[in-house]
Amino acid sequence: MSGLLSLLLLLADVPAAPVSLFELQPDQPTAEHAGGKVLAGFVAGFATHELGHLVFDVAFDAHPYFKSVSAGGIPFFAISHDPGLPNWQEYMISSAGLWTQQWTSEWILSRNPDVRHQSAPFRKGLLIFDVGVAAFYAGAAFLQTGPEERDTRGMASSLGIAEPWIGGMLLVPAGLDTYRYYHPRAGWAKWASRASKATLVLLTFTAHGRQGNTAVGSASIRPRLR
Ligand SMILES: [Zn+2]
Repeated sequence: MSGLLSLLLLLADVPAAPVSLFELQPDQPTAEHAGGKVLAGFVAGFATHELGHLVFDVAFDAHPYFKSVSAGGIPFFAISHDPGLPNWQEYMISSAGLWTQQWTSEWILSRNPDVRHQSAPFRKGLLIFDVGVAAFYAGAAFLQTGPEERDTRGMASSLGIAEPWIGGMLLVPAGLDTYRYYHPRAGWAKWASRASKATLVLLTFTAHGRQGNTAVGSASIRPRLR
């Protein structure tokens, strides 16, 4: 756990070195306190992702349920749902987790473009989750590996395109948001990022135009918490 905390602190630009008692101001958070908030942001990102799936599962009456799966021998759990949904519903359910991540990043970077230089460990934890998980899913999409319930497979099959395309469409906003974090005044990156996120939502209409339905309920995949 302390290793994970150190990694999160490093990624979030939060100083992990112990602060001398003489330097510590009454309202200055300790590194441990900040690390806890980074972790809380990370966990909030996870919860928001899952909530995104569940909202559409419930909206479409898709009967969500937990399912045990395995990826390369690593146990995972997935939130799956009934098969046979129309393509557009399948696309929205599969995409919703990643949409929530993209739009929470958008909210943070739009409200506070300079967040990198602010003491905002919770928001930085959220950003780390958003970008990190998008990169993780993009990798799974490029390699077309992992449980068949993975989000990117559900998205690709409901659109009728090859899964690596989805990987590319996830990497673009994640890369642009990372760029915005370091270059808050890059207007082109802001609008390119927003356009790439909107494209993923608008693809719902492409899925809507496709006949038939997908055979496999999509879901999100996460390492099973022990
Ligand atoms: Zn998911």
